[in-house]
Amino acid sequence: MTDEERIIQNTEEDQAWADLLSPPRRQFIIGAGLTAAGLTAGSIEVASQDIVTPGNSSFKPIVPPPDVGKSPWGYETYKEPASRPLSLRPGEERDLPKQPRPYTDIKSYHAHFYFDEDTHEKAALVRKWSIERFPVELGNWNLEPRGPHVTPSFYFGFTNDLLPIIVPWLQLNSLGLTILLHPNTDNPRADHLYYTLWVNRSQPVNAYSMPKQASVEKIFPNIKPTVKLET
Ligand code: ZN
Repeated sequence: MTDEERIIQNTEEDQAWADLLSPPRRQFIIGAGLTAAGLTAGSIEVASQDIVTPGNSSFKPIVPPPDVGKSPWGYETYKEPASRPLSLRPGEERDLPKQPRPYTDIKSYHAHFYFDEDTHEKAALVRKWSIERFPVELGNWNLEPRGPHVTPSFYFGFTNDLLPIIVPWLQLNSLGLTILLHPNTDNPRADHLYYTLWVNRSQPVNAYSMPKQASVEKIFPNIKPTVKLET
């Protein structure tokens, strides 16, 4: 393959991503009314009465065998003193916490998927894929802002044991959607504003009036997966 051919190939691949992530608006207008109703009519088994036992799943993180070799950084980077910029913010250290917060304060997670008229079908597809594969607590479609979420959205909640599976799965299957992952601790305000993890671009979350102290939100999975997770 010549360099020129390689460049052309890369361009096509990047164009395919660009088309996926930001399709021409004209396509949406032409396709209006032909939305895929089929996307939402999957073979999802809803656990209306059955209790899905959380924290007891067979979902295990995939850990490849360790790479063989040596770190190009060497083995003494820990000896480097903390480097200092030429100027420093006076008193910054006064406001720093004395200890890290225990990660065990997190009792569960929410994943909020944001969409608009250009990205609804992607949201429907990711929602279908997700609930086919994971025992989550699925909420409603919200076509208008709801709670702290300022654009249309849907959400599912999930137990901590699913986190090391769902994060990489969403990274590879977001279809470019903006997804907010927030933990549930006893501080809902911080959960939404400061403890967040985003897939792709972040967007504003109007959580400033949420309580700083509350009982932790509970998760009751209402979906039984029907598709074996691809590995
Ligand atoms: Zn939430």
